Amino acid sequence: MTRQVWTEARLFEPQPDGRLLCTVCPHACRLDDGETGLCRVRMRSGDAMRTATFATSVVHAGPIERKPFYHYRPGAQTLTLAAPGCSFMCSYCINFRISQFGRPSGSAWDAVPVDPQAVVARAADAGAVVALSYTEPSLAVELTLALADAGRHAGVPVVWKSNGFLTDAALDAVVPVLAAVNVDVKAADDTSHRALTGGALQPVLHAIRRLADAGVWVEVSTPLLPGVNDAPDDLRRIAESVAAVGESVPWHLLRFTPTFRMRREVPTAPDRLAEAAAIGRQAGLRHVYVERALGPAGRDTACPGCGDTVVRRELWGPVHSTLIDGSCPDCRTVLPGRW
Ligand code: SF4
Ligand SMILES: [Zn+2]
Repeated sequence: MTRQVWTEARLFEPQPDGRLLCTVCPHACRLDDGETGLCRVRMRSGDAMRTATFATSVVHAGPIERKPFYHYRPGAQTLTLAAPGCSFMCSYCINFRISQFGRPSGSAWDAVPVDPQAVVARAADAGAVVALSYTEPSLAVELTLALADAGRHAGVPVVWKSNGFLTDAALDAVVPVLAAVNVDVKAADDTSHRALTGGALQPVLHAIRRLADAGVWVEVSTPLLPGVNDAPDDLRRIAESVAAVGESVPWHLLRFTPTFRMRREVPTAPDRLAEAAAIGRQAGLRHVYVERALGPAGRDTACPGCGDTVVRRELWGPVHSTLIDGSCPDCRTVLPGRW
């Protein structure tokens, strides 16, 4: 157990009733002095907000494919940080001990303050990208901005794995500094999304579109939760919402493994993942991925021009790409991504 350190936070507005409105996420907590928000890691102190998220529980090195990103710097290493806390309460969260900090299922505080310059220097030495993942990075806006500021001078990008549950004010702050974001779309409609996560769906779809429109590289992930969101009609609607942002947006179908409040459920069957991938392609998506359950073919990138395989990925690591400056070596089609 470590000591929580509260530092100056951004993104709040005084309200006529004397409370402070936190404008980081759509939960829109209105706080009296000394109160923490639903996330438990942002707090009102006097006339300002403070955050405990300028800290991390982990410093992990690993391939960027594990976030997952398949069209952003394939084969790059990441240095991943995770400040405790989340704006969602998903029943299947594999990282629930740190994501659910402050709630009955969460662990005690185990994070230590971050020195952004030191993190960026370590990433630069390894040729790595800095990632915020495992917990919800939008609760760590200030840390993200500090890492991006340090990274800009060192040529180290910052990427997020996020639930996409952000306000426009939070997006205004982070869109200019993020290189890439993988966002989860976990349900097809608002009622199911609220039941699964505790938050509304529309802000997530809005954030995906804003990030993509601003030129941040976006990939989308959907965990296939048996009996929860894996009905063909639900998957079709999710795929269509991704395709509406762009048919080139990579869509990752994630296999559920029993954990947390869903530890008595069964893992997603491979044929459900194959069926979901087919639904994604029918919806127009050109790059649909399944990391493990469908073998190597689930991880390959095909050229949308000629159909040749142009990027092959081994499990957890090496990437074999024939792309030349992001283009197919055969038909010269430019592949969507940041290569
Ligand atoms: S980040 Fe969201 S949950 Fe946390 S205090 Fe702000 S509005 Fe509330
Ligand atoms: Zn081609």
